Amino acid sequence: MNRKILLDEKDIPRQWYNLNADLPNPPLPPLGPDGNPIRPEMLAPVFPMNLIEQEVSTQRWIDIPEEILDILYRWRPAPLRRAVYLERFLDTPAKIYYKDESISPAGSHKPNTAVPQAWYNKQFGIERLTTETGAGQWGSALAFACRLIGLECKVFMVRISFDQKPFRKLMMQVWGGNCVASPSTETKAGRDILEKYPDTAGSLGVAISEAIEQAVTDPTGKTRYSLGSVLNHVMLHQTIIGLEAKAQLKSIGEGLPDIIIGCAGGGSNFAGLSFPFTADKINGANIEIIPVEPTACPTLTRAPYAYDHGDTACMTPLLAMYSLGHDFMPPPIHAGGLRYHGIAPMVSQCVVEGLHTPRAIDQIECYEAALTWAKTEGFICAPETSHAIAATIQEAKKAKEEGKEKTILFNYSGHGLMDLSGYDAFMSGKLTPYSLPDEMLEKTEACLKAYPQPQVRKTGKW
Ligand SMILES: *Cc1c(COP(=O)(O)O)cnc(C)c1O
Repeated sequence: MNRKILLDEKDIPRQWYNLNADLPNPPLPPLGPDGNPIRPEMLAPVFPMNLIEQEVSTQRWIDIPEEILDILYRWRPAPLRRAVYLERFLDTPAKIYYKDESISPAGSHKPNTAVPQAWYNKQFGIERLTTETGAGQWGSALAFACRLIGLECKVFMVRISFDQKPFRKLMMQVWGGNCVASPSTETKAGRDILEKYPDTAGSLGVAISEAIEQAVTDPTGKTRYSLGSVLNHVMLHQTIIGLEAKAQLKSIGEGLPDIIIGCAGGGSNFAGLSFPFTADKINGANIEIIPVEPTACPTLTRAPYAYDHGDTACMTPLLAMYSLGHDFMPPPIHAGGLRYHGIAPMVSQCVVEGLHTPRAIDQIECYEAALTWAKTEGFICAPETSHAIAATIQEAKKAKEEGKEKTILFNYSGHGLMDLSGYDAFMSGKLTPYSLPDEMLEKTEACLKAYPQPQVRKTGKW
């Protein structure tokens, strides 16, 4: 039995897989301010046309340019590992495999899309990318990608993280990225907020507004904006994870997994692992596919399927997705990447269809799982990733109760070496269980009331 299942470089996937070619009901198109579906050209000031083409594509396979692969080879194909030490500890008949995305230079799956996004922008003649970042995972991934591809990178980082979490800001600077605290004085959006609230801690919504404003107002037209999750082209780039995993399982004679698990914030690492297997499920395979979210931010398990903006400032089109409302103020849980109010329209449609069955887990159970992981497998996982591990442990225990030898595959989205303050808070007893109170969902309803209701389209097969 191998603990590490390695794929040869020559066997790296050469195409991304687009689930929109196979979904029985593809996601509804985004709506503009007038309530009509937006036309691709309307996104042109924000994104380069080659990425907009991917965003709206229904082509099943899309070639990965050789120059992108040449950068990804630094850490891809990523290992598929078998968590035998955790299996022994749990005394479970289940086989637990995980895809290790923590070994990228930035420490998570995010460079899988940062690299192609930077590359397509460069191809289109763009010289500079802007983006926002909360805790800094996305900002550091984009700074890394821009460095290798030769683009300037400007990151608006939420003020409170900028002050309290200097290390990811320093990573961005090592890669030559320009990271400023948001709100900043560089944009009108930032100046307006600072005038009203000079001491504000900032928010992701304001940072997005600043990043988009700076992209669309550049008089040279050589700046665009980049988003690290949620959109269709981001899900597409991440499918390299699941395609590699499939080839790796096949190489050791494993069939399809029984259960697939990933943590879900905007949905990209979960989609990356699960979409190639979702295609098998559409074609009749019996696989349980589980996105896992915090009980503090229960987008898929308690929020309505609605049309909502992707950002707090309402600058984006209306996306058909599960949403807690764009004005949702997430509680300050440590899994920063799982605090987003919405979830990718493609993942949302899979949940509507019943192809994916979401689950919410409390932060205490997640940190317990993270410590179990560290003392069995040895690695220190990201707080986001601990949600996938907690669900994996639940399923491995269930397999033991049922006496079934199930195969579980989960995505190890990142390491936690930059997030030790969350571990500190847990180990010193400062964290308490937290489930979103019902009153907050009334606010969600009030926020979403103004928008059209998306049609719920499902075949009833799953
Ligand atoms: C950003 C991040 C996430 C959440 O983002 P998704 O788009 O849902 O994948 C999960 N894990 C890690 C380690 C992250 O950095």
